[in-house]
Amino acid sequence: MAASISAPHPQTWIEIRPQGMYCVPGGFYVDPVRPVDRAVITHGHSDHARAGHGAVAATPETLAIMTARYGAEPEQDRQALRYGEALTIGEVTVSLHPAGHVLGSAQACLEYRGARIVVSGDYKRRSDPTCAPFEPVPCDVFVTEATFGLPVFRHPDDREEIAKLLDSVALFPERCHVIGAYALGKAQRMIALLRQAGWERPIYIHGALQNLCDLYRDHGIDLGELRPATAGQKGVARDEFKGEIVLAPPSAIADRWGRRLPDPVVCMASGWMRVRQRARQRGVELPLIISDHADWDELLETFDDVGAPEIWITHGREEALMHAASARGYKARALALVGYEEEGQ
Ligand SMILES: [Zn+2]
Ligand SMILES: [Zn+2]
Repeated sequence: MAASISAPHPQTWIEIRPQGMYCVPGGFYVDPVRPVDRAVITHGHSDHARAGHGAVAATPETLAIMTARYGAEPEQDRQALRYGEALTIGEVTVSLHPAGHVLGSAQACLEYRGARIVVSGDYKRRSDPTCAPFEPVPCDVFVTEATFGLPVFRHPDDREEIAKLLDSVALFPERCHVIGAYALGKAQRMIALLRQAGWERPIYIHGALQNLCDLYRDHGIDLGELRPATAGQKGVARDEFKGEIVLAPPSAIADRWGRRLPDPVVCMASGWMRVRQRARQRGVELPLIISDHADWDELLETFDDVGAPEIWITHGREEALMHAASARGYKARALALVGYEEEGQ
């Protein structure tokens, strides 16, 4: 969509402040990194959805995830916005559209006097059985992340990675395969991908994953039979985990919790597993390159699909992506927003 002559360019009404991206005529922030009066939240990862805002607009799923993580926040004014529904905040029309990243994840489309900016949050283009697929929304400015904004980051097909895992399980029936996976999104996607690949046995999960797996289930995502990977006797390996698949947050695998697993094959599901050194540093024997973020090619394809003449780049590797976008004829700008970390990548 080309802005009409009179439409105010988003650079005149969007400000980058220490709290995050601020929409002046709407009086709200998108994914602020500090508590603010009014926020529009793209998704439930803790670096985007923080606690303590006065008013929050987000998808019903994101609101449910925030409640699961932060409690009910009784004083908070909450506005559930389904995909495609419009809400007027101040002088701005806000709508949310699927981002394909985790359950309930959305791109925030902001329209003001005929000009339109889409803040995509985190997104990916691969099919994911646990969330709605990314929808390109035509706009004047497209705001993109750049987590994997380097040409070395090309994620393989998920099915190949799952096949690698299942081959290893078949090869080492006496061992337990423990997969490090972030609690929101990655863990549920791994389970769903295993089910798609025909793994019907119970999957064991660390206690820290239980709430969000329940929440996904309550939202209609079928995860099959899950069992708690509860603590046995300290230091005693639990034989019933032999030949089984266990999921745990990456931090749990490194600590004492991991010691009760019988001869574990330590796996990690992350886009960073493309970097061998990272896998080695974390003691990962079987790296699985499975990411909930767009890879290099998907980032560039998405710019073409959205068709915005101008791309603003938020967190991640801005430089290379800015060059590549410019080379493709886009006007590109790095916003250098701070405060967004690595959860769920
Ligand atoms: Zn995220
Ligand atoms: Zn992010």
